[in-house]
Amino acid sequence: MLGEEEIEEVVATLRSGWLTTGAKVRRFEEEFAAAVGAAHCVALNSCTAALHLAVEALGVQPGQAVLVPTMTFAATAEVIRYKGGVPLLVDCDSQTANMSLADAACKLESGLPTCVQSPPKRPKVVGMIPVHVGGLMMDMDAIHKFARRRDFWVVEDAAHAFPAAWRPQGESEWQRCGEGTAAVTCFSFYANKTITTGEGGMAATGDSDLAERMRMLSLHGLSHDAWGRYSGSGKWDYRIMAPGFKYNLTDLAASIGLHQLGRAEQMRLARERIAKFYLETLADVEAIELPPRDADRIHSWHLFPIKLRLERLAIDRNQFIEKLQLAGIGFSVHWRPLHLHPYYAETFGWRPEQFPVATALWERLISLPIFPAMTESEMECVASTVREICEENRR
Ligand SMILES: *Cc1c(COP(=O)(O)O)cnc(C)c1O
Repeated sequence: MLGEEEIEEVVATLRSGWLTTGAKVRRFEEEFAAAVGAAHCVALNSCTAALHLAVEALGVQPGQAVLVPTMTFAATAEVIRYKGGVPLLVDCDSQTANMSLADAACKLESGLPTCVQSPPKRPKVVGMIPVHVGGLMMDMDAIHKFARRRDFWVVEDAAHAFPAAWRPQGESEWQRCGEGTAAVTCFSFYANKTITTGEGGMAATGDSDLAERMRMLSLHGLSHDAWGRYSGSGKWDYRIMAPGFKYNLTDLAASIGLHQLGRAEQMRLARERIAKFYLETLADVEAIELPPRDADRIHSWHLFPIKLRLERLAIDRNQFIEKLQLAGIGFSVHWRPLHLHPYYAETFGWRPEQFPVATALWERLISLPIFPAMTESEMECVASTVREICEENRR
């Protein structure tokens, strides 16, 4: 949801003549760091870039493996492949669709040798990248306990999880996503995410060395003082410290982000209201399962995924979607799991039966529209259409 403030700030930036990384990016980093409670933030041109630099900075050698949920977007696993590493795919929880730590333990025990064709040797596992699917955070204590015991680093794919928070059951203190919840927490500001800069991302970390390294790598691996070039103080004699990348965010994008940040909680509350409406209005529809609620989570409600109870329906998910389309209702599916994509199936030999939960779940998933600008009548239209489709196609 864009407002006049974003438009005016972009125009002011255009008029200032400073288009690329400069003072507005610095301010966006500082304000975002304050919003999530992180010591350091590095603004980047995507969440994929943030994940890539996090993995670069923490280190993955060719042939080493990283635990990645199969129920995620392409980006989470591809950054491991950039380094020649093996994304060791993990099944999901049937309720939250988040990574299953029980299956992670199984995959570490038995998953590798039979299903990973290349490299043929059992790879060393060095880290894990949990994803907070839809903005419902995982139990971070459980993740860190799992990781610490095995000496894994943890990078969070928090593309959906701003603003979001969690707390251990029975405790009163909230921990925000990015507030020391992982070595690096990666956020997305892609056009359809909870806040947007058009394209953009942020890497949040409590570790100043990691922050420095990601910042250096984000701009061709130039020495830190080279950033002076971007603030006008002009250091012309930079040093190349590493073969870096071109991942910096622009002041034009940060102009949007600064104002999106200001209304992030207001937009989250608007989505929460829509989620509550769906949860209440659709509670008695027996042919669908609604997403779980958890009193120990502040949910960003980036997504509202419903699960069809196929045994109660005479139509399948794709036919259900056709009917939504006919009624003019927007939808999406999050996601076809990675192990069911040709690249991962062919490269690593993953089979559907190795991920029984995700394989079955994906056939039942539909994400309903949920965005802050949704009107009352749009919400009602979505709910009544879903109800009608279920009633008309009851088995
Ligand atoms: C959108 C998304 C990304 C990638 O974000 P970009 O900013 O587009 O790079 C990564 N992971 C998940 C789970 C996403 O949904």
